[in-house]
Amino acid sequence: MKFISTRGNKESITASKAIIKGIAEDGGLYVPSKFPNFRDELKELCKLDYCQLTFYILRNFLSDFTDEELKYCINSAYRSTFSTEEITPITKIDKDYFLELYHGPTLAFKDIALSLMPYLLEVAINKNNLDKDILILTATSGDTGKAALEGFKNLDRIKISVFFPEDGVSDIQKLQMKTQEGKNVFVCGIKGNFDDAQSGVKNIFSNLAFNKYLNENGYLLSSANSINIGRLIPQIIYYFYSYFKLYNKNEINLFDKVNYVVPSGNFGNILAGYYAKEMGLPINKLICASNENKVLYDFFETGQYDINRDLVLTTSPSMDILISSNLERLLFESCNRDSKMINALYKSLYNNGFYKISNLMKDNLKSFCSYYASEDDVNKSIKHVFENYNYLIDTHTAVAYSALQEYKSSTQDKSKSIILSTASPYKFSTDVLNAIGYKVNDENYFNSIDKLSIITKTAIPNPINDLKGKKIIHNSTYEKNDLELSIKNFLEI
Ligand SMILES: *Cc1c(COP(=O)(O)O)cnc(C)c1O
Repeated sequence: MKFISTRGNKESITASKAIIKGIAEDGGLYVPSKFPNFRDELKELCKLDYCQLTFYILRNFLSDFTDEELKYCINSAYRSTFSTEEITPITKIDKDYFLELYHGPTLAFKDIALSLMPYLLEVAINKNNLDKDILILTATSGDTGKAALEGFKNLDRIKISVFFPEDGVSDIQKLQMKTQEGKNVFVCGIKGNFDDAQSGVKNIFSNLAFNKYLNENGYLLSSANSINIGRLIPQIIYYFYSYFKLYNKNEINLFDKVNYVVPSGNFGNILAGYYAKEMGLPINKLICASNENKVLYDFFETGQYDINRDLVLTTSPSMDILISSNLERLLFESCNRDSKMINALYKSLYNNGFYKISNLMKDNLKSFCSYYASEDDVNKSIKHVFENYNYLIDTHTAVAYSALQEYKSSTQDKSKSIILSTASPYKFSTDVLNAIGYKVNDENYFNSIDKLSIITKTAIPNPINDLKGKKIIHNSTYEKNDLELSIKNFLEI
């Protein structure tokens, strides 16, 4: 298996090199040269546990890793870091299923990939005899940052720098990052929104002079965002795993098609679902759920992607994004891997802030449909699920729940649906409390957390409890154009 760029640089590279590079030199994203197909093996694969399944799927993609290396990575990632042995348990509520992806160290779905990817990178560095250390640059809308910091902290030969929008993440998310320990970590607030942070990081990647300067000082850049293929592949696993769970519990027959509902921002999570479908998993619809920043919803409706609009700050901050990087990988498939087309579309996005795809490409997106939730829909969904089923969901998951209700009422589809539950409600305690009818203010979020626990009779997750006594370690804020300066200061170069 090799990896190629969506923008047409014909060279194909090994998995380990693609993970090290993060993004291709032509600005494109790495994608697998082809998809393995497991349709004939589903009956066997459904017997595997999470780690065994991860091993099986990974070895098809990361073919330059040895079995021993993969096992080392998988064991280090999952054997003791998640609070449930199943890693991604599933809960049936009424007729739907919530796939809980938030039982990792930072309580968001990003943990699944970011617990594993650092080890993949560590192995990749050694495999390629790199003579430089890696500097990971990560822009975060809240959850990636902390998950990446936890995953990469104290690893040899890797340093990590996380940029978050000062006014675009929740208080708990901010506190989680600012208290991060580790000898190789740097956390930095940006005066701007997530897109500013993300484009700032992308600019650094494409700034040849700065890259040269870093190289001369012994560093090579890489990314822990979902533009890195090492982030994406581990997310394919839980689509298969949850399908098998339903089958093993006699909820579905093998080959029955199910829907997956995914609260989407950067489009990495749902893209992994699309990859799973390409690999033979019986998926009916991939339902892309947007919040009030409904750029993806509009795209699936009209075929036009248009970022000429203001970013709205919502209670689901990890989805407050206008430029969904991973859509590029889907577009690449939908135009039958025509990289000239991708270059043209992204040129238009860069110059005009929008692009429109052809009808042919739009026809190739039939696996997807999209709905969006207003803030009011989000609050009502949290309240409805809690009051009727005594089950607590966070604001992002509520966006997906709301989208699913709309999908059901506008179609006759009777397939089973799995909602990807992307964060613990405790990460967004104040908003969740407000939704279920207890008015609280933002002032002291630990009060909200305690109150949420008392009212809902649920336990506060350990990673939140652990935050209580932690010292603020990182307090720097930079202008959005000063990311390079911040990096120089961090590395002392
Ligand atoms: C990152 C994130 C999302 C969005 O996922 P993408 O892969 O960026 O589409 C949704 N919910 C939560 C809680 C997240 O952290």
